[in-house]
Amino acid sequence: MMPVDICIVCHNGKKGFRSCWPGLKECNSCGYCMADMDVQNLNLREIYSDEYFSGDEYVDYLRDRPTFEKQFRARLHEMKRFQPSGNLLEIGCAYGFFLAVAQLDYRAYGFDIAEGPVTYARGELGVDARCEDFLDVPLEPDSVDVVAMWDTIEHLPRPDLTIGKVGRVLKPGGFLFLTTGDIGSLIARVKREKWRLFHPPTHLHYFSRSTIARLLETAGLRVVKTRYVGVRRSVRQVAYSLLVLGKEHSSWLYDSIADSAIGDFSFVLNTYDIMLVVGQKR
Ligand SMILES: [Zn+2]
Repeated sequence: MMPVDICIVCHNGKKGFRSCWPGLKECNSCGYCMADMDVQNLNLREIYSDEYFSGDEYVDYLRDRPTFEKQFRARLHEMKRFQPSGNLLEIGCAYGFFLAVAQLDYRAYGFDIAEGPVTYARGELGVDARCEDFLDVPLEPDSVDVVAMWDTIEHLPRPDLTIGKVGRVLKPGGFLFLTTGDIGSLIARVKREKWRLFHPPTHLHYFSRSTIARLLETAGLRVVKTRYVGVRRSVRQVAYSLLVLGKEHSSWLYDSIADSAIGDFSFVLNTYDIMLVVGQKR
């Protein structure tokens, strides 16, 4: 394992990191930011137990399925403009909502380390989801047309290893699609440790447009598109974030919204701090 004081983006071990704000450190050489903790020794299977998807970060992931599907159909539409068919591998497929949409156009399969969600994805949605760590799976080099990583890279212990492997398994000309927060965005720089996407130990890595491009470059991928994307959220999820998350007391307002039909209503909100990055293998 690489010592934690060596940067995973520029591999500079001499200049070290400086503290950005409480809990976040930044590489003095390239500006890449990571959670100020022992990232290599976290128990990820414990963090991503079933509670993660129902109450910790997401209020009720399964109930919000129609919301996620709408969002994923829009992403798929964009993806097909780059690569209309072929095989698609998703890293961090969770409950398989994206695979279910993607398998209509691609031979789609995915990996996730969270057992409960993968069991659901296979059993309920009939998608090809596998409870394995992508890094442990033997895959043919130059064999994949499209890799998708939705809101996943920030959770990984070693994004450099994952992106490196993506670079190897993609076919020349194949595409990687990912989304992640932008630490260089206005809202992140203003809100700092109160930025809603800053929450170690689930979010460990905080990329900017330049540091994510550099990481992809190292793996032989050229960034062909970066843009800010809106995120579709149900009223239930938004109310949960505003009224419950991080609060000590329960909220009667949240309880009444969550159980009403209003809770199912969804809308797209673009706060210009989540990047969609498309990389193409050279
Ligand atoms: Zn660096």
